[in-house]
Amino acid sequence: TEAYLAAMAAARPLNAYVLETPERARLMAAASDARRASGEVGALEGIPLGVKDLYCTEGVRTTACSRILDDFTPPYESTVTTNLWADGAVMLGKLNCDEFAMGSSNETSAFGDVINPWRRKRPDGSIDPTPLVPGGSSGGSSAAVAAHLAAGATGTDTGGSIRQPAAFTGTVGIKPTYGRCSRWGIVAFASSLDQAGPFARTVRDAAILLKSFASVDPKDTTSVDLPVPDYESAVGRSIRGKVIGIPKEYRVDGMPEEIEALWRQGIDWLKAAGAEIREISLPHTKYALPAYYIVAPAEASSNLARYDGIRYGLRVTGDDITDTYERTRAAGFGSEVRRRIMIGTYVLSAGYYDAYYVRAQKVRTLIKRDFDIAFAAGVDAVLTPATPSSAFGIGEKSGGDPVEMYLNDIFTVTVNMAGLPGMSVPAGLDAKGLPLGLQLIGRPFDEETLFQVAEVIE
Ligand code: GLN
Repeated sequence: TEAYLAAMAAARPLNAYVLETPERARLMAAASDARRASGEVGALEGIPLGVKDLYCTEGVRTTACSRILDDFTPPYESTVTTNLWADGAVMLGKLNCDEFAMGSSNETSAFGDVINPWRRKRPDGSIDPTPLVPGGSSGGSSAAVAAHLAAGATGTDTGGSIRQPAAFTGTVGIKPTYGRCSRWGIVAFASSLDQAGPFARTVRDAAILLKSFASVDPKDTTSVDLPVPDYESAVGRSIRGKVIGIPKEYRVDGMPEEIEALWRQGIDWLKAAGAEIREISLPHTKYALPAYYIVAPAEASSNLARYDGIRYGLRVTGDDITDTYERTRAAGFGSEVRRRIMIGTYVLSAGYYDAYYVRAQKVRTLIKRDFDIAFAAGVDAVLTPATPSSAFGIGEKSGGDPVEMYLNDIFTVTVNMAGLPGMSVPAGLDAKGLPLGLQLIGRPFDEETLFQVAEVIE
């Protein structure tokens, strides 16, 4: 704990943490030492972790990196973090993220950008000092784990926010099956897509963390009452005979040859380890991104209606209650969040609801069916690239057309739309010396196979 606290203090320019909690960390570490002395050792005993600032932490400021939550201090603790502390983990602080988890670069945070600890190499081998994004929305989590500012971290993934930042920082990130972890106490973005999951430096660490994250919870009726397997025991198990699907629709136009090459390399590794490789078709893939950008803003516009300046967080007092609502929301929400609220309100409004929202839900069913068909035909896991590029420069994609930023999620959103488990595993470096990730997608509640296959790639 002390080593991590010192590293955090030395790495403040990365802006990974929005709040460091050294006193709490020391108290938790001391309590952990006492437990250990009495022979009581939890699964995460003494392990120092960072927490995405989307998770409510009792008595510790939680902001979702939005001005509208200002200095909100929750009187309760999220179920996932409750599980982690019950297993002995130590909280180091709260991690930066995109505002309400809306973004792919951590550039929408009210606390400013996070800097990726990785740097590009120039063709002559010298280091280009241009600061790069760590991905998003869980950019503080990915940067902290990559820079050794936490042994692991919590993230959330609505459309790729664990897997894309993991790919950009050379870390392991898993979005479990929808329902595997409780969403209770995590600030909601799009409730039918949001899932909690861990960041770690290795597949094994991610497996150990997920075991602790997962639980059925009466406070989240979408959490599922299934036994949580010992994921760690899947790591290192042979993948001989496993069927790995390669979806041809993920070969998108304009994808850099390096990403294609990495994908081929991944296929070769799995083949060499005894897996059977099978070309599959997921024909509705191309509709996933546009449908996601209807469903996610629709749910967000509803979830964010609670920030009214009355119940918690920021209040800008106006002439009457309506004026107070308007002033508070205008001052409290950043531009990307306002854009999502407007899109969401539009697609849910009378006259447009059937044309946009209902159609997007139908597309969602078709996307899920594509995967169901592949799994029914014997596919155990699907292998794709995690992202269409490596990390880009801060400011490079945030200036103009928001769709350019949305394209980052092209390989990840299908997984949330279908509720499946997905994982990003570091698979190599590009010519600029930046990490690239491969994505594994599994059957519902079969995270075990993902850990098993990922270990071969790692
Ligand atoms: N980048 C996507 C978005 O902005 C996904 C974010 C997420 O998974 N939280 O909606």
